[in-house]
Amino acid sequence: MAQRLLDRSAAQSSLNVWEMAQSQLDDVATIIGLNQSVHAFLREPKRILTVSIPVRMDDGHFHIFEGYRVQHNMARGPGKGGIRFHPDVTLDEVKALAMWMTWKCALMNIPFGGAKGGVICDTKALSAHELENLTRRYTSEISIVIGPEKDIPAPDVYTTPQIMAWIMDTFSMQKGYSIPGVVTGKPISIGGSLGRDRATARGCLYVLNEAMRELGLEIAGARVAIQGFGNAGLHSAELMAADGYSIVAVSDSHGGVCNPRGLDVKGAIAHKAETGSVVGFRGGQRIDNRELIEYPCDVLVPAALEKVITAENAHRIQAKIIAEAANGPTLPEADDILHERGIMVLPDILANGGGVTVSYFEWVQDLQENFWEEDEINQRLRSKMVRAFKETLAQARRHNVNMRRGAYCVAIDRVAEATIARGLYP
Ligand code: GLU
Repeated sequence: MAQRLLDRSAAQSSLNVWEMAQSQLDDVATIIGLNQSVHAFLREPKRILTVSIPVRMDDGHFHIFEGYRVQHNMARGPGKGGIRFHPDVTLDEVKALAMWMTWKCALMNIPFGGAKGGVICDTKALSAHELENLTRRYTSEISIVIGPEKDIPAPDVYTTPQIMAWIMDTFSMQKGYSIPGVVTGKPISIGGSLGRDRATARGCLYVLNEAMRELGLEIAGARVAIQGFGNAGLHSAELMAADGYSIVAVSDSHGGVCNPRGLDVKGAIAHKAETGSVVGFRGGQRIDNRELIEYPCDVLVPAALEKVITAENAHRIQAKIIAEAANGPTLPEADDILHERGIMVLPDILANGGGVTVSYFEWVQDLQENFWEEDEINQRLRSKMVRAFKETLAQARRHNVNMRRGAYCVAIDRVAEATIARGLYP
């Protein structure tokens, strides 16, 4: 039901997600006076690969899945970005997500371009064996465009460290030797990085803490509502609760649970592990995903899918800060309403940039074959997040725009500078 609610609010938008990503670029191109040729160049992805993925299912028949790998821009380094396994994946969505990765890597100032992958599939309807077959065949099909120096995938919605391990193994078996640097978000035993599993949430917490200080808000007891209880949402709940925030509502694709006095986060995590959902957790009352967006809180963390904050619900949001752990949760028309209402939006490319930042650390460790302690990783992550927050805020102030536009100013400027420095081949 919750998924249907999310779908319905997405359908209200006039823009599809790719048009939304392009319009965000157009908007900031005007603000910074971006060179027109560079603007036209950045509006389209560099390379799109569509693959047909035949998979032998458990009953013996072949099912043909469709998948994509899109490389938006590689001016600053190899492509970087996750792989999404979801029934609603479209090529336009993957193009948008790839463009957002370009801006995210530039904002975090890590030497990568932007890329993204997706496969149209429902992981919950696949057996473990079918999921492995699908992952391996998809990897084999996209192996012509990925590699440690070319394009490095990672986890995204419904893809896990185990799936990353199959990607690493398939690519390595094809080449004949182990190549851990082809993918990040791997299990530690095969070259994964300490801290990568919680990095998205930890980075989100670091920038949220900066924003709270900036707005003069008290962290202890600040109420947080989190939509989505996957890697980003679950770990955000855990880390924010440990830092003194009060988690008043959480949800997953089945629905949610709320308690104005604060939820027992450990209990909710245990309930999800047992039953597959936070729904039915005794420590609170039932809430649906639509209600969660408007729930009384100080901080709203959308940590699921795109386009859940719309012109329709933006007027009713009660939070003072929105920290976008998900990619693309806010529609452009909603952004303007939130800005007018004085709500600070920490945009996706900033708020969830911790994931790809520790992916970068993982890739560096793999290439150097030298692994760091978790404290060192978290320290380096904090310094990159705080710097990106300050740069975003400075640009937002300089141009008198919201934080998303501020972040885009920083990112697009860096990508444009690299593009101009390299020049056009031939
Ligand atoms: N999927 C994550 C994101 O959207 C992580 C990407 C990565 O680590 O490469 O940022």
